[in-house]
Amino acid sequence: MQSPYVREVVDRMELPDEVIIYDTTLRDGEQTPGVSFTPGQKLEIARLLDELGVQQIEAGFPVVSEGEREAVRRIAREGLDADVLCLARTLRGDVDAAVECEVDGVITFIATSDLHLRHKLKMSREEVLERVADTVEYAKDHGLWVAFSAEDGTRTEFEFLEKVYRTAEECGADRVHATDTVGVMIPEAMRLFVRRIREVVDVPVGVHCHDDFGLAVANSLAAVEAGAQAVSTTVNGIGERAGNAALEEVVMALEKLYGLDLGFNTEVLAELSRKVAEYSGIDVPPNKAVVGENAFRHESGIHVAAVLEEPRTYEPMDPREVGMDRRIVLGKHTGRKAVEAKLRELGVEPDEELVEEVLRRIKALGDRKVRITDSRLREIVKRVVESRGDR
Ligand code: MN
Repeated sequence: MQSPYVREVVDRMELPDEVIIYDTTLRDGEQTPGVSFTPGQKLEIARLLDELGVQQIEAGFPVVSEGEREAVRRIAREGLDADVLCLARTLRGDVDAAVECEVDGVITFIATSDLHLRHKLKMSREEVLERVADTVEYAKDHGLWVAFSAEDGTRTEFEFLEKVYRTAEECGADRVHATDTVGVMIPEAMRLFVRRIREVVDVPVGVHCHDDFGLAVANSLAAVEAGAQAVSTTVNGIGERAGNAALEEVVMALEKLYGLDLGFNTEVLAELSRKVAEYSGIDVPPNKAVVGENAFRHESGIHVAAVLEEPRTYEPMDPREVGMDRRIVLGKHTGRKAVEAKLRELGVEPDEELVEEVLRRIKALGDRKVRITDSRLREIVKRVVESRGDR
């Protein structure tokens, strides 16, 4: 159920008809400090992303290592519905590596901000423009689909950035990316930025956001509001430093809040999240949106009673839609309705006296921070029944 306020503003937006998700779990996600996937793990994640319905998978950065090249090649040969892309610096050698991996396309990038030109690339703006032109043309000549990313674009003077994007477009780029490399945008600024880019190029605009201020998802959605047609995401929001825009949050927000039909099999999201957590070693916080273990758990008596009557009272989406389960957790906040429901789940017919006594014991244990698991609840019920003896 949409909020009337959301409905009112969304109706006024010029949302694109289609949003392409170009997931970068296997590239930027893998650049999370300490994370490395094996080629086999990468392939497994790619298959799940494909099952979800992601249109483009950024499978890796081939020049990084031999294992990385093997992983990208295996994903490219897998025959997925999704297009397989890889990252390439604006260097012909990087494009050659991409071609050798048999990918459908490349995301080629170079930094454009003065900060990066001066302290990282030690290059002039003219040299940057030459590199963009040469690499985009070279990649197109090799039959690749090409997206161009201006790294640190959100801290680049627009006068120069405009030249860079125009150059990329003139040389055949199929899409340009608005890149918030260090996560310094706010939603209103992102809308302004994307609108400006759309004024200077005709090709679609994609967006790549980082979560340094916790705004990656909000900024990505703001970009879509301003007409961006592609969004970069990672499963569980992993990625460099504070990470990227979380795939599961972007997808469910676009579907449920903005009312866009992506045609995705969203039930795969929970499994994807678990797999990526396992293979990356980066745990999902319990309170994580959509895929956190508490996302569809209820303990407070008031909430549980309402959810049992009508789940939408406290669940803005159906857990089954994202492959999750509703869980009723017992503790000091528990009420009668939850105990009744739990007893029935365990196959015990709840009478009033039993419910009262079980509830009293649960609250006493809850006050002492004891977790009430199903086996502990069975134990409690057994003791209560035994103490009544006569029945
Ligand atoms: Mn990035």
